[in-house]
Amino acid sequence: METKFINESGFQDFVGKLVESRNLVGPVAKRNKFVFGEINKYEDLRLDYDVTLLPPKKLFFPPKQDILKFYGQKGESCIDPDPQILLGVHFYDIKAIDMTDLLFRENNEDYNYLANRECTTIIGSNIQNVHDRAFFGSVGTEVEPKGHDGFLTKIEGGYVFEIITAKAKELLQFGDFQDANENQIKQAEKVNAEVLTKCSEKLNNTSAEINKKVRNSFDSKIWEKTAEDCFSCGSCNIVCPTCYCFDVQDDWYLDQETGVRARSWDGCLKEDFSEVSLGQGSIENFRETRGSRYRHRIMRKATYLNEKLGGPACVGCGRCSSVCTSDIADPVNVINQIMEE
Ligand code: SF4
Ligand code: SF4
Repeated sequence: METKFINESGFQDFVGKLVESRNLVGPVAKRNKFVFGEINKYEDLRLDYDVTLLPPKKLFFPPKQDILKFYGQKGESCIDPDPQILLGVHFYDIKAIDMTDLLFRENNEDYNYLANRECTTIIGSNIQNVHDRAFFGSVGTEVEPKGHDGFLTKIEGGYVFEIITAKAKELLQFGDFQDANENQIKQAEKVNAEVLTKCSEKLNNTSAEINKKVRNSFDSKIWEKTAEDCFSCGSCNIVCPTCYCFDVQDDWYLDQETGVRARSWDGCLKEDFSEVSLGQGSIENFRETRGSRYRHRIMRKATYLNEKLGGPACVGCGRCSSVCTSDIADPVNVINQIMEE
């Protein structure tokens, strides 16, 4: 791995040249929040963001995605990937993308996701401001961020740029990069280590301890009690970078021969998520109560997927906590309570 350095003004020119030659996406301001959006000039790029409203998964797996046009018995894919550079992804979202890659690659490869994912160059960046509900410093600390192409760390006077893959190396042509010296590399390491200690929220136990205890807490009263105020809105699922459930629907045109198959994000907290038809208009819901749905979400994050992912399916971004109207979605509060039971 090569490590480069570019000074502040060189970095501005670098971003300007990327804008001219590539589709560049990164954190941009939206009112008083941030989203991943198109970068049209250097000033759009807000590497000082704390967290974005939606995670970067929306670029590979859009909230609503047409996947197939059909004509009678014939079908044609709607997926038309466009190469893009995704710049400024925090390390917790890099971990989440890596988890989603694995889940969409296993068994039947999901072309609709992978086509967009594979034409994207991902450049991470260090966290300059910590969101007040984040807890990335105490969750899944054993899981390394991987799968990205390069990583930028802001230090005094400029940026240290770690080149991980050929896709990142190819970008060097757009900027005046020098080899980073030992002092600059050490400064970057320090910045990235220190941020882990800056979260105000914290899980009190290791992932292995949480995995075991949460799995054995199926009958705890905490689930129903916490979920008493749940609106079943599914917002905590929708904003989560590691949630990947979707619904598929066929929309038929008036000729009743042609139409479009689309998929859209779905979430296990919604009441109809676990409804199944029994035929003749009869329905069964196998997670009927708010508590059972709430428990399912936390079990998925803290224990069910651990073996497959090598750690919890939560990266501590804090998005779910900040969108929950009832302020009950925060995994830290409920997991710390379960651990004390
Ligand atoms: S926990 Fe909060 S965000 Fe999630 S479904 Fe319930 S009310 Fe909505
Ligand atoms: S469960 Fe909440 S904190 Fe964990 S990754 Fe999902 S949105 Fe982020």
